[in-house]
Amino acid sequence: MKGTPARIELHTHLEGSVTPARLLALSERHGRPELPAACLDGSGQAFAFAGFHGFLELYKRVTSVMRTPRDFHDLALDLAAQLRDDGVAYAEVSVSYGVLMVRGLDPGPVQAALAEAACEAQEQHGVTMRWLPDAVRQFGLDAAWRAWECAERAGRGQGVVGFGLGGDEVSGPAAAFAPLFAAVRAAGLGVSIHAGEVTSMGEAARDSIRQAIDACGAARIGHGLAAAGDPALLAELARRRVFVELCPRSNVATGALPSLSAHPLRAFLDAGVPCSLNTDDRTLFGLDLRGEYAAASAHLGLTPADETTMRAAAIAAAFDTVVATQPPSRAGD
Ligand SMILES: [Zn+2]
Repeated sequence: MKGTPARIELHTHLEGSVTPARLLALSERHGRPELPAACLDGSGQAFAFAGFHGFLELYKRVTSVMRTPRDFHDLALDLAAQLRDDGVAYAEVSVSYGVLMVRGLDPGPVQAALAEAACEAQEQHGVTMRWLPDAVRQFGLDAAWRAWECAERAGRGQGVVGFGLGGDEVSGPAAAFAPLFAAVRAAGLGVSIHAGEVTSMGEAARDSIRQAIDACGAARIGHGLAAAGDPALLAELARRRVFVELCPRSNVATGALPSLSAHPLRAFLDAGVPCSLNTDDRTLFGLDLRGEYAAASAHLGLTPADETTMRAAAIAAAFDTVVATQPPSRAGD
């Protein structure tokens, strides 16, 4: 760790960072002792799923026992420890208000617990955590507005620095959410939209990216894979300094890419698109950020100079102006 610059992570989902041990504890807490067996592999130490549909089922199961502010507080501190071990000094963490609300839960007390957890994460682990609530695309515009109203109420005072859109990209165009994201920008918060992840959509996946930046004013795109096949779109992302949150091993885990070597990382870097590496749903996929950079170095030609470029780009793309750049100290350092 010593002498290693701090990492920044801008695309990591709180729900997707649940550890097997925490899933056991939450399942006990909510009277669902049968749940872990349906989520974990034979070792009990890793999550198991097959294909994208299998992943969505797993996500539904694990989030079904994330119900109280205390649950989210515990998840946040677990993630802080993972980020510390990854050498991450600053992270923006997505929290699906859309999923909370469809379960009839109020994001308000949850966000208050997350704000408290962020203070503890700073003290205990030296990790700065900020929050990116998001809406779920297939739940529609009305639900997204309700989620945004909760996020706006919490505001920067509770560590909310932006608002996002996740969910099923195939379910509809981001342009439908344009008025909502105009409100997000007017409130001075950042916009990050998952787009161009489902490359099997073909031209529609590229159009999905264009809608996110043109109609919704996204400063950041989650995944953005589809842009790689379109030199004009890559050039536009570079010219407008739209940041792409790349998540290579997530793309392999969900089947968006057949293998890691198929990831178009070099196309983004060579076109000058600001980007960095991220874990997405880290524990569900069995990933960490340290391994993400190591894998990109081994299989995608990522150089130390590229990593320095990515770090500077991520600092510039963060939605908080105060980005911690000192690495957290790890136990044993
Ligand atoms: Zn994501």
